[in-house]
Amino acid sequence: MSTENNSDNLFDNSVKILTDLIGFKTISGEDNSELINYCDKILKQLGATSFRTYDDEKKRVNLFATLKSKNSNNKKPIILSGHTDVVPVSKGWSTNPFEATVKGDKLYGRGSCDMKGFIACALAYAPIYSKSNLDRDIHFSFTFDEETACQGAPILIEELKKRNIKDGICIIGEPTNMKIIDAHKGCYEYTTYFKGLAGHSSAPHKGVNAVEYASKYVNKLIELREKLKERTPKDSIFNPPHSTLSIGGIFGGIAHNVIADKCHVNWETRPVVKEDAIFLNQELDKYANEVLLPEMKKIFPNSSIEKDIIGEIVGFDREEKSEACELISNLTGDNSRQVVSFGTEAGLFQEIGISTVVCGPGSIEQAHKIDEFIVLDELKKCINLLDGIKNNSISN
Ligand SMILES: [Zn+2]
Repeated sequence: MSTENNSDNLFDNSVKILTDLIGFKTISGEDNSELINYCDKILKQLGATSFRTYDDEKKRVNLFATLKSKNSNNKKPIILSGHTDVVPVSKGWSTNPFEATVKGDKLYGRGSCDMKGFIACALAYAPIYSKSNLDRDIHFSFTFDEETACQGAPILIEELKKRNIKDGICIIGEPTNMKIIDAHKGCYEYTTYFKGLAGHSSAPHKGVNAVEYASKYVNKLIELREKLKERTPKDSIFNPPHSTLSIGGIFGGIAHNVIADKCHVNWETRPVVKEDAIFLNQELDKYANEVLLPEMKKIFPNSSIEKDIIGEIVGFDREEKSEACELISNLTGDNSRQVVSFGTEAGLFQEIGISTVVCGPGSIEQAHKIDEFIVLDELKKCINLLDGIKNNSISN
């Protein structure tokens, strides 16, 4: 940045854009098209080209926009990536969660740190990229429904593959206090539905009790959890070092004296290696299909067990040599590498060969919480990083 004044402008602009972004109520699963239109408009005015991808109902939108390099000797493109959805709000906020409120050195609002802060910085900085003589493309990737098991990003990734955008450096601006995150576990979420046969509780043998079969299924999961511990990789960088498994809820039954004909179980696993997820699902499906289901069908042939995949967020694996991490280290002077326990879209980009790092403003401590905030200084640090990228993307 050439003058102090200029950087002040950038910061003010990032706060203004973040305020606008928080105003769009983009809770996961809901229509985010107004926010996408807003981002697209800013970037198009700067000369960016863009395309959109959608969910089946065309209600939720991913945006991928590009500021083209003005040079022919291209360096690898950079993808600035953020999810546009936010988690729902519970009661107890001291401010309106969908109205940005600055108090002291913090800006409050749902999505302020997770992760509209990063998107705001990228959009505030975009005019500088568009004016600079860049020798690489800068892409902006804004997805829907990351918080519900990354439902949007895979649709975008498919389109990137079709368009042959499989090379580059991707920065996922999830809140890490601008620290470099180079690995996380996968996050696979499922709901398993049990259908049995209702009846009077005084004759349990005449019905198929969905709640009881679901309980057996849950017990199997807990048994398999121990097996996952035995499979801990020797060189695991995670804490805990093994793949985890957790039951999120069991829902079924209508009364004390009625045999429950329906029950469902919400559960998730966080594999340290892909093979653990495959092992777990194979063992579980075998138990459901070869043990539980035949028992259920003996009494009621239309009984069923169905496992729905809510989302399978692939893990983000540490790479010995990562161009993305090296770029950030060179710009910030921070050579540390950390792992986190939350999932991101990073593994999806990594899977198609894009060097990826998770690094963004704000702290995960404030994410998903009542009175979510971002410390304003974090926005300044993020703008500094974006400025470093610009300097790194100009050949003299
Ligand atoms: Zn997030």
